[in-house]
Amino acid sequence: MFKHKWRVARIFGININIDPSWLIIFFLFTWSLGGQFFPARYPEWPRSLAWLMGLLTSLLVFASVLVHELSHSLVARQQGEKVNDITLFLLGGVAQINDEPKKPLREFGMAIVGPLSSFVLAGLFFLLSVFLHRASAPLSAAALTLAVINTGLGVFNLLPGFPMDGGRVLRSILWQATGDMRKATRIASAVGQGIAFLLMALGFLQVLRGVFSGLWLVFIGWFLQSAAAHGYEQVVVRSVLQGVKAKDLMSKTFATVPASLTIQALVDDFILERKDRVFMVMEGEELRGIVCLEDVKATPRQDWPRSRVRDIMTPKERLEAVSPETDGQLILRSLAAKDINQVPVMESGRLEGIICRTDLLRYIKLKTELGL
Ligand SMILES: [Zn+2]
Repeated sequence: MFKHKWRVARIFGININIDPSWLIIFFLFTWSLGGQFFPARYPEWPRSLAWLMGLLTSLLVFASVLVHELSHSLVARQQGEKVNDITLFLLGGVAQINDEPKKPLREFGMAIVGPLSSFVLAGLFFLLSVFLHRASAPLSAAALTLAVINTGLGVFNLLPGFPMDGGRVLRSILWQATGDMRKATRIASAVGQGIAFLLMALGFLQVLRGVFSGLWLVFIGWFLQSAAAHGYEQVVVRSVLQGVKAKDLMSKTFATVPASLTIQALVDDFILERKDRVFMVMEGEELRGIVCLEDVKATPRQDWPRSRVRDIMTPKERLEAVSPETDGQLILRSLAAKDINQVPVMESGRLEGIICRTDLLRYIKLKTELGL
């Protein structure tokens, strides 16, 4: 969902992006407000006015979501976290904050400020609707609608399931009480998954009764469920890699292959025959790049006889070497951020080893299976 997004603004130095999926929800909101809700509630309004107010309200709903996410981001930044950007998408907004908070109290502040800002906005829109009552009935109605929607946003986000704000609040409290972040996350994401299944069940019931907007609840529940499960995984991965260094993860043996080798030959002669997994790609005497098993797997089978190793390798220019002492969590994050599969480990200009994404994943799997 986040591959191609449009950058639309920059506020307090934070990039504001719009994911294409946002257009769907924006259209749905405008349509249900301008085409259904306002005409039903205010039949005396002309159609065009209802649509205009629908559009305006819808725009302000997303401005409100943006304020909510900005509040998270600003508190996070004040606590020294790096905020990458904010993206509006199908299900609202998400602030990309580089790291998990390091102390429970910080997480509490970072999480609670979102719902609080929604409630403050609700209050402001309510006052505005009172204030505008005489001047303009339609604007007053739009403001009242925004007050209700923001209240709903605040309440929904306070549901105590991780990774929603309320779930983060719950986690921070459990974390403070037990001193164990992993355990706190496990409980909060279990509650999160419980809430997600409840939402899905409610949605299904609605659909069975002929209310098709119930599908929306099913969808939100499904999204939350995977986010809760994934959020816990991330915490596990982080805690498994804590204190693990590049030198513990790297492969020290690697074969050399020519850049012109076909992938088929690489698979047949090197991977299957010699059980190698990491390859230095050479052109003559010169290193051109690195290839791992992942790169091969990402290439469609029918292309293997034609494609060359040089087509799928990570070229030398994109490889950024780390030292044997570099932190494992940092490596995993940078592989994900750069969308590459391998990183060379160098010390004083000498190649010590290579870390592939599979090495990292294997290490994590092994350690969690052994319950370490
Ligand atoms: Zn929030």
